[in-house]
Amino acid sequence: MSINEIRWHPLLGTWVIVASGRATRPWRDVKCPFCPGAPETGYGWDVLSLENRYPSLSTTPSISTEAPSFSRLEPGYGRCKVVIETPEHEGDLDTIPFKNLVKYVDILGRETDELGRDPGIKYVAPFRNKGELIGVSIHHPHSQIYALPFIPLRIERELESMSSYYRERGACLVCDIVREEERGERILYANRDFILILPFYAQWPHECHIYPRRHLQLLPELTGEEKENLADALAVAVSMYNSLFSFSLPYMMVTHQAPVKGTYPHYHLHIEFYTIHRYADKLKYAAGIEWGYWAFTYDELQENRVKELKEALRKGIERLEGRGYDPRGEPHF
Ligand SMILES: [Zn+2]
Ligand SMILES: [Zn+2]
Ligand SMILES: [Zn+2]
Repeated sequence: MSINEIRWHPLLGTWVIVASGRATRPWRDVKCPFCPGAPETGYGWDVLSLENRYPSLSTTPSISTEAPSFSRLEPGYGRCKVVIETPEHEGDLDTIPFKNLVKYVDILGRETDELGRDPGIKYVAPFRNKGELIGVSIHHPHSQIYALPFIPLRIERELESMSSYYRERGACLVCDIVREEERGERILYANRDFILILPFYAQWPHECHIYPRRHLQLLPELTGEEKENLADALAVAVSMYNSLFSFSLPYMMVTHQAPVKGTYPHYHLHIEFYTIHRYADKLKYAAGIEWGYWAFTYDELQENRVKELKEALRKGIERLEGRGYDPRGEPHF
């Protein structure tokens, strides 16, 4: 029998998602379950959202035991979805036709809205893992969405930071970052609605963030034009990454939005990319100091990494143009 539960980590004050019975998850060498014509996908689609067959959370969760007195144990209530971004088995966000990329952004918003209506869901987390080094089990381009019964610790931290910044300065932290960074040296690309920067405070080697210019909290608030401009920024960012070295770059892409219950007027939605390559042949690991203490070390000046990325951005834009897509904004070479 499969178990889905959440266990309280009393030292950290957050939840651990426990799911047993997922060991039969497909691993790489099986026939692709996301290609058209597979049992769950069928034919006649361009972007497809499905329930994850091997979910970490369940709408009918069972628990395994009783919590000890110092902790808590609750059913692992939630939903896990997969968004298949293209019928093509190979590719990335920079090779998907632009109209499908806009549809992908739209689906992330619709899912946030729909999953967020469930009374048991507190947070909707859309993310994309790419590359075997990141542990991806299926190569077919896809993202995931976890609908969680709790607010993740990292988001709680961002909520606190943005609220206290507002209390101290009477302004939104991210709006202030956008205003200052768009005139500075760490900006890579900007269109009408979004900017792409390597943050002053980047932790991973070529970590980049996409910030909307408009102050908004959740994906479903994006206007039609903002969805198109977010798709544009995603295509440019990913094409830049895939032009950095001579291979398609593994990365994690996460959307940070507000919780779906309650109001969080000082939160500002954004997207973060984490990359693990310091150089083509050297990786950055989250090891003892990073993982054990959450104190990241960065082995180069962030501004020097921006210079490397500007060169990759130039090539990335050329590649997009070679595929017939003209970016809508201004690259900052
Ligand atoms: Zn496939
Ligand atoms: Zn803001
Ligand atoms: Zn964030």
